Amino acid sequence: MQLSNRITNLTNGGSDGWDVFNRARDMIAAGTPVVELTIGEHDIRTHPTILKAMNEAAIGGHTGYAMIPGTVSLRDTVAARITAQSGVPTTRDNVLITPGGQAALFAAHMAVCNPGDTALYLDPYYATYPGTIRGAGAIPKAIQARARDSFQPLAQNIEDAATGATSLLINTPNNPTGVVYDRDTLLGIAEVCKRHDLWLLSDEVYDTQVWEGEHLSPRALSGMAERTLVIGSMSKSHAMTGSRCGWIVGPSEIISHLVNLATHTTYGVAGFVQDAADFALNAGTEFEEEVAAPFRRRRALAQEIIGAQNTVTMVPAQGAMYIMLNIRATGMTGEAFANALLDAHHIAVMPSESFGQAATGHIRVAMTIEDQKFATALKTLCDFATSLSTS
Ligand code: PMP
Repeated sequence: MQLSNRITNLTNGGSDGWDVFNRARDMIAAGTPVVELTIGEHDIRTHPTILKAMNEAAIGGHTGYAMIPGTVSLRDTVAARITAQSGVPTTRDNVLITPGGQAALFAAHMAVCNPGDTALYLDPYYATYPGTIRGAGAIPKAIQARARDSFQPLAQNIEDAATGATSLLINTPNNPTGVVYDRDTLLGIAEVCKRHDLWLLSDEVYDTQVWEGEHLSPRALSGMAERTLVIGSMSKSHAMTGSRCGWIVGPSEIISHLVNLATHTTYGVAGFVQDAADFALNAGTEFEEEVAAPFRRRRALAQEIIGAQNTVTMVPAQGAMYIMLNIRATGMTGEAFANALLDAHHIAVMPSESFGQAATGHIRVAMTIEDQKFATALKTLCDFATSLSTS
């Protein structure tokens, strides 16, 4: 039977840098312990108090179809949070609740791109980006943010790719690099978007995990609120990855179309999950600080360990739960190094090839295991790199 081009072309096929991850999972299944520093899954679970709120909502009866745009209360809560963070007046009419940030990324592209339109995104990128764009029927076009520019994208490079494009997807704090885009970068991006009439899709799911500098939402920049869709999520901020609760914030007109899309796709998000998210967001910053704290500590540990040797260097880790390491001194690709590290020391990291072309010679290390184990694994990684070093 025929399958749609949309589904068969979703991923590009071939090696995509996930072999290391899959091999590590196979080793674990076969009984070999592996230190997994691969995906962005916290080593703590959702706080019991949030789960208690979820349970109470479910037992209390919020288990039927929930309001498709999201509950009025959660939309108000998200609107108030975004207003406070960005200074942009935001109401519930600007908010759609989605089953996680990933569904929001897909819906946002569906809302702004016609089939065949060019959708820009930045490389290195979160692994699902090109597939998400293809899934929405648009054509992904990558623009490189380079190591020599500290992975801050240059407005000129976006300008060079922008003619005829419909949208630009950015992500700050960034996965995989850990870089937080500075004001100049965002101002440059905003100017290009305005000049070329681009939608800006701003993935801000790591906005509560900033170690250096500050998170700026480009929606707050002059003339950007009417052309920006912000993607947010409870996954990273509140260790609620499995609950699938996120949002899109943008102009009310597009949100009303997105509600139509939700009616014909997801049909909303579980009411008890929304109530738990609402509870967590209204509980002040306590939960999100508790979730962010281990990453802040481990990033400091990493700075110390990387600073004490000369083979591996670290991209300035300003935010998110990852560090990006330059292993070019080994003369190896990210993938070759990650495979060798897995074989020699049973430590699994993500090679740069999982995130595009721009970060070649790098690996991404998720800071998602207990501090001491994390420090030991990182030291082993550095010693291994030194033993392979060509200089
Ligand atoms: N954007 C980025 C940059 C991510 O890293 C992730 C998850 N790893 C997501 C979006 C999606 O997260 P979720 O669907 O769990 O909200």
